[in-house]
Amino acid sequence: MIQLTNRLQQFLAKKNHHHFIDGSYTNAESEQQITVINPATEAAIGKVALGTKESVNQAVAAAKKAFNYNSDWRKMSPDDRGKILYRLAEKITEHAESLAQLVTLENGKLIKDARSSDAGGAAKTFRYYAGWATKIEGETLDISQPQKGGRQNFAFTRREPVGVVAAIVPWNFPISIAAWKIAPALAAGCTVVLKPSEETPLSALLLAELAMEAGMPPGVFNVITGDGRTTGASLTTHPDVKKITFTGSTYTGKIIGKAAMDNITDISLELGGKSPAIVFNDADDLAFAAQGVAAGIFRNQGQVCVAGSRVYIQKKVFDKVLTDISHAAQKMKISHGFDETAQLGPLVSKGHLQKVRGYIHTGMEEGATLVSGGVVNPKDKGFYLAPTIFSAPDNDQQIITEEIFGPVLVAVPFEDMEDALRLANDSHLGLAATVWTKDISKAMSMINRLEAGVIYVNSPVRSDPGLPLGGYKQSGIGRELGKVGVYSYTTLKSVNIVY
Ligand code: NDP
Repeated sequence: MIQLTNRLQQFLAKKNHHHFIDGSYTNAESEQQITVINPATEAAIGKVALGTKESVNQAVAAAKKAFNYNSDWRKMSPDDRGKILYRLAEKITEHAESLAQLVTLENGKLIKDARSSDAGGAAKTFRYYAGWATKIEGETLDISQPQKGGRQNFAFTRREPVGVVAAIVPWNFPISIAAWKIAPALAAGCTVVLKPSEETPLSALLLAELAMEAGMPPGVFNVITGDGRTTGASLTTHPDVKKITFTGSTYTGKIIGKAAMDNITDISLELGGKSPAIVFNDADDLAFAAQGVAAGIFRNQGQVCVAGSRVYIQKKVFDKVLTDISHAAQKMKISHGFDETAQLGPLVSKGHLQKVRGYIHTGMEEGATLVSGGVVNPKDKGFYLAPTIFSAPDNDQQIITEEIFGPVLVAVPFEDMEDALRLANDSHLGLAATVWTKDISKAMSMINRLEAGVIYVNSPVRSDPGLPLGGYKQSGIGRELGKVGVYSYTTLKSVNIVY
């Protein structure tokens, strides 16, 4: 068992955690509390406040004050803003082990993934966007308006920070997805109120402490804890919020999208996925492809938006590739996240485990063939599930049309490229896809015709701060990360000076 860091022990010793608003923890004694559960042991690890409308108002007011035209933050040079973001990246790196351990405690994921994807990913994202603070550009435009008396036009655009940003994030990568929103929003000069998921609120609070230690002015980055229905809804309907950035399910995205329109609030939505992995006969190395497909679905217990949860395998190699994927799955060591040799940890919560099991039952009822895994919990305690693989003849079943968000893969055979495209594009979602072939012409045809926002060839999908992420169809609106990510927190002002 890993020894918890001193910093984390001190943090957890507080037991009751309050919102982080205007540079410090608030007094939220009167609010109801939510207990945060360790999914590996089912033990409580702390309590957070369930943010009411009043505390949301307080957080938004702090963010609004920090965005005031005369605030330190608004007057700060882009270079100084970038320095704070860079210092926060350094702070995250310095305290990476504490953050990673906390993410493993509240989410259940493997510590090695919490170190690389959560703490490591967040540091990388803040470092990347620290550089963008000084690179936000408008344009000069040669317009054709006639002016009297020989006067001329000087027309240009400026990009200005949009204002107070409400960031709502899910539990699967609590720190790194938060960083995908906070870092570009702050680089653009906005201020932020973050609402983490009620399953994983603690790491967001630790991140807020680190932001203060990095020299973030009070009110620039606030964290309000609570649930979606009360706290999240109060935040997304707040008239002083000027941009909502949401990552979560398509179901919740639709609710938030409608709420945003009541105030005509700018919004970006990063939603669910049911991403296809397509393995052709001519994949360079079929065993390598099978390993990649297994990694693409079972990483983080399948709780990954870009998880390749449907695999289409060309008929000639279907049996071989499916057998290899299934062997890889059966060999995975299932254990708690602090076991450094574990390959699959528990799912995030009892409710989520029940939901995923429900889909496995449905798959069996609908006649899909269970290749490996199933509904049985392999441990006495904790929310565990063995990696589960089905095969099915076509796309008819619920397990292949709906996002399961767990370690469940469905394999379907295909004839040729047209058939693969038909199956892959037959979905209301369009977040990501992977293609496994050594034929570059075939790969290019697939890239052109697949309806997905992110496509990887011969690799499972990974994220990188420089590469935009977002979905086609009901997988979302807008893109996160990269240059478009920071520009999505700006609004454009068009100016013409007649001289
Ligand atoms: P949910 O949609 O249930 O929740 C996401 C966040 O929204 C949580 O913080 C939740 O709070 C909050 N929320 C819930 N209801 C409301 C509401 N009415 N108003 C405001 N906020 C609300 O998603 P999950 O947390 O279950 O996350 C899994 C989903 O996220 C999957 O569909 C996955 O595909 C998607 N996702 C998409 C990514 C992408 O980049 N496209 C990346 C990662 C995940 P609380 O939890 O406290 O109820």
